[in-house]
Amino acid sequence: MTITPLDCLQCGTQYTYIGVGPHSAECPDCESTCVSPVGELRVTDNDYWSVPNGTGELRIYTVDEHERSFEFRVGFQKNRGTLTTITIDGTSVSAKQCSAAWPIQDLLNESLARYGITELTNPMNSTNTTTQSQ
Ligand SMILES: [Zn+2]
Repeated sequence: MTITPLDCLQCGTQYTYIGVGPHSAECPDCESTCVSPVGELRVTDNDYWSVPNGTGELRIYTVDEHERSFEFRVGFQKNRGTLTTITIDGTSVSAKQCSAAWPIQDLLNESLARYGITELTNPMNSTNTTTQSQ
């Protein structure tokens, strides 16, 4: 049995899935499918552009175990990148809107390293800020 913390990027609900097998990938409150990925994400494609001064953007296309598409957009300046936008099945949300951190660091690092990006700022679940309300 696994306990999976999930969050909905549409209405902000946080909930927990307890059980075996993939969760239903749907928010219990608003029925949005913009919830955390199910199981392991796998990278299907990358898209990369940059201009001569070192500014550019990397898109990392992944799918989860429900074959939902997750696109991670990373803006970068030379070797420093920032996760800006996550697009789930065509719905884009700001990475800052994510209240739960997804275990995506290793996944992203693999693609980032390929393009020489060695530092990544991930604004998801910014627990290191002092603006937490509890
Ligand atoms: Zn929701």
